[in-house]
Amino acid sequence: MSVQPIVELLSKRGVTVEAIAEIVHHLQKPYNPKLSKEACVESVLAVLKKREVQYTLYTGIALDELAEQKLLPQPLQTIMEKDASLYGADETLALGIVHVYGMIGLTSFGYLDKVKMGIIRELNDHSQKIHVFLDDLVAGLAAAASARIAHDHEDEKDFLG
Ligand code: MG
Repeated sequence: MSVQPIVELLSKRGVTVEAIAEIVHHLQKPYNPKLSKEACVESVLAVLKKREVQYTLYTGIALDELAEQKLLPQPLQTIMEKDASLYGADETLALGIVHVYGMIGLTSFGYLDKVKMGIIRELNDHSQKIHVFLDDLVAGLAAAASARIAHDHEDEKDFLG
């Protein structure tokens, strides 16, 4: 699927491919010291190409935007405004992205949920906007792109014996 529309939507919501790639680089660098920023950008774009990933992003971002416009039914509107920590549907939706490259992304996703680095923290700290879903979706994208690189790296090692 073309990545252009989803890249544009993400950037409209304050998230660039480079900002996600930054997190991927941070996650994978310890295991893969020669990893370039360009390879991380490429991996994020490969994840964003997947139809199921795009559909998941459209769903979560729509809910964030509807909440900003106060268009959600209750009690969902209030839950989203408070970003209630026990809501959990944001993490559940993001897991759909984490899993596209297997279970290996799960550890990174859990880690990112805890430390909230880079753009994830910026989304989280934004008081004017509602990013209940987007912060987790971005963590999911970074975790999946990171898992994809990890798989490639392992394949390379297998090939070289
Ligand atoms: Mg959230």
